Amino acid sequence: MNTQKEVGVGDFVLLDKIDIENVMKNLEIRFKNGKIYTYIGEVCVSVNPYRTMNIYDANYINQYKGRELFENPPHIFAIADASHKIMKQQGRDTCIVISGESGSGKTEASKIIMKYIAAVTNIGGQKDIERVKNVLIQSNSILEAFGNAKTNRNDNSSRFGKYMDIHFDFKGDPIGGHMNKYLLEKSRVVYQQPGERNFHCFYQLLTGANEDLLKKLYLNRNVNNYYYIQQGQASKVDSVNDKTDFREMSLSLNTLEFSSADVDSLWRVVAAVLHLGNVEFLTDGDKLKIKNPIVTKNIANLLKVPEEELTKSLCERVIAACKDIMRKEHTETEAFYGRDALAKAIYDRLFSWIVEKINSAVAVDTTSKRSYKSSLIGVLDIYGFEIFDNNSFEQFCINYCNEKLQQLFIELVLKQEQEEYKREGVEWQDIDYFNNQIICDLVEAPHKGVLAILDEACLNVGKVTDELLLETMDKKLKNHKHYMSRQLKPTDKSLQHRVNFRVTHYAGDVTYNIIGFLDKNKDSLFQDFKRLLYHSTDPVVKAMWPEGAQHISETTKRPLTAGTLFKNSMSALVQNLASKEPHYIRCIKPNEIKSPTVFDEERIRHQVNYLGLVENVRVRRAGFVYRQRYDVFLKRYKMISQFTWPNFRSGSDKDGTKVIMDEHEFNNDVKYGHTKIFIRSPKTLFALESARNEL
Ligand code: ATP
Ligand code: MG
Repeated sequence: MNTQKEVGVGDFVLLDKIDIENVMKNLEIRFKNGKIYTYIGEVCVSVNPYRTMNIYDANYINQYKGRELFENPPHIFAIADASHKIMKQQGRDTCIVISGESGSGKTEASKIIMKYIAAVTNIGGQKDIERVKNVLIQSNSILEAFGNAKTNRNDNSSRFGKYMDIHFDFKGDPIGGHMNKYLLEKSRVVYQQPGERNFHCFYQLLTGANEDLLKKLYLNRNVNNYYYIQQGQASKVDSVNDKTDFREMSLSLNTLEFSSADVDSLWRVVAAVLHLGNVEFLTDGDKLKIKNPIVTKNIANLLKVPEEELTKSLCERVIAACKDIMRKEHTETEAFYGRDALAKAIYDRLFSWIVEKINSAVAVDTTSKRSYKSSLIGVLDIYGFEIFDNNSFEQFCINYCNEKLQQLFIELVLKQEQEEYKREGVEWQDIDYFNNQIICDLVEAPHKGVLAILDEACLNVGKVTDELLLETMDKKLKNHKHYMSRQLKPTDKSLQHRVNFRVTHYAGDVTYNIIGFLDKNKDSLFQDFKRLLYHSTDPVVKAMWPEGAQHISETTKRPLTAGTLFKNSMSALVQNLASKEPHYIRCIKPNEIKSPTVFDEERIRHQVNYLGLVENVRVRRAGFVYRQRYDVFLKRYKMISQFTWPNFRSGSDKDGTKVIMDEHEFNNDVKYGHTKIFIRSPKTLFALESARNEL
């Protein structure tokens, strides 16, 4: 056995003294000894090891299968198992919420959980269940190809939020699933910051596709030939192999029953986006023209729309004013804007289509007997909190999403803990922690939150600029503790630019650039494009644009803004998670340089602080380090008393538990709840454990 000095404690509640210094010290010892997981009760803290760990193979899976949390060293498998066990034994829906900043290891954690669940289920090897497992696992490579990208924080950063429900039959075998996705960062399709890439699929296609396919798509292998994917000047990523990823993803498309016609449409749409980025305009006399019509010809072929119609919709738009229908030619700026909006919209719809295809491949067969009395585990893997040199509407949404999850954590972990004591009839003293509800309000409050002010500005067609929007925000939010702008604090360097504002998030200060907020929130696309694509002779493309069926003169209801849609989806998500029995993985990024050895004290301390880990330990410990159902407790410790070994026959499990604690004189340190025993001090727990070991 390793001593505590060498590997630290496996549960922070076992620390002698609970403060940030000791929590940090414990994390460091463990990280340096390759122990990347540590518990806080049932919460699992995970530090990204930035190297391949030998702790996920079949031996480990067997070690954790069906065991209790405390029986083994901390591991994400134990959390997955606990979640599966509760779901199976109690028929309750559970969820695993994985949080942490960008690059902290959330997506890897979600894959490890999937792998574990796949490994411990379907012992009988039934075919239909095997298929479900394959689809669940293989959908990852497709989703990552189209929804992940290299950012300056993470080479494989999720640029969409993912919530996956896995449904199980009453025996605990997976019978299907459903995925919800949240706001894809589609601006990346047309723009990347220096050092970043577009979505992986573009590079995979150019590197991995055979010559035949490339020719059909009018493409060549040189990334630099395509404006949309070379702006970051970072097309090669050391940790990514586009060629093998392409192969794997293509195989997955097969497994998921994408037909060859589907795959054909898919790559034609991706290629069309690449070519769109190369479309240029020029003004000839006073007429706007396409500078390189060969490119538009190729795009028209790929999207299966008439070339003249495509050209027209790129250069002009139809407007309906008082029943008159007119054509108005774009300015050059408008034309480029329209082109980019089209590329983003096409890609976004393609991604939604892919997600729907995956959902139908993995849908639960409701006519099957298996779906009777099913329950589920939800796994949430979103984009982590992020700060870049330039932060825009997308970062604002992503960071807001992280605020919501932190709020949920506070509600469920810090509050629920107190409720458990109340429910069990045990005394309890409140612990202080920072409640980030105030920041959630800053973003989402009706009428006075940033999103409401933004929506109001979007209603004022034409008149409001981003700068005017910022002025309104400054006026309305000037007294908010977590909001700041140039007018309010001109000396601050990051706010010297007159288009910046700052939000003090729970995880740190982020300075946002307001330029583009209005546009991204409105998220509009010229009608002409929608009609154009609806009339494509490619059924896949056509199906992506149902609203193109509308005639221009039909008045359309103003669609909800991107911000409001996102806010609504977040509130539905939080509600959904709160209705389930939650498990938490809190991911920590050890350094900014992807090193397996560097323990960046300052960066980690910051994360430990904002994740509220010390408060979490205190809440857990101020109460009790250990709580357990009487039956489980008895099962583990019955051998340390002659009255309970081999079986306790003279009363309830609670009585049996009391007999053991009496005999060992632990009663001062214990409270007996209605269904659980609560032990206050780790010493008692150690003593119990050593009594067991001494036998
Ligand atoms: P984002 O919010 O940007 O999506 P994330 O939290 O999902 O970030 P991951 O993509 O899961 O971060 O992890 C980043 C990288 O860290 C991985 O590509 C991998 O190289 C490494 N990594 C994370 N977890 C592990 C692990 N358990 N074992 C080995 N490497 C890991
Ligand atoms: Mg991720």
